[in-house]
Amino acid sequence: MSFQDKDIQCSECKTSFTFTAKEQEFFASKGYTNEPKRCPACRQTRKADGGDRQGPRKMVAAVCAECGQATEVPFQPREDRPVYCITCYAKTKLGKSR
Ligand SMILES: [Zn+2]
Ligand SMILES: [Zn+2]
Repeated sequence: MSFQDKDIQCSECKTSFTFTAKEQEFFASKGYTNEPKRCPACRQTRKADGGDRQGPRKMVAAVCAECGQATEVPFQPREDRPVYCITCYAKTKLGKSR
């Protein structure tokens, strides 16, 4: 089987890039059957970001509505929603399931 250069559109930045015959050969030798979905630049960026993770989570300082202790939550707390520390969160969860 011979390989030919192929133009693919990057699913990330929508730029088209060339999936070269050499790369295809390399892919095949590795046993990959899927074509790359992203251009080399985007692949690099993702690698630098740590793969497919959604990026580092920003922790927001908050005060637990139950015990009043300072805590950190991985989301922006909303005013109409109480924020709990891990301990109280576990408690409220248990309470609700009853
Ligand atoms: Zn790209
Ligand atoms: Zn608490």
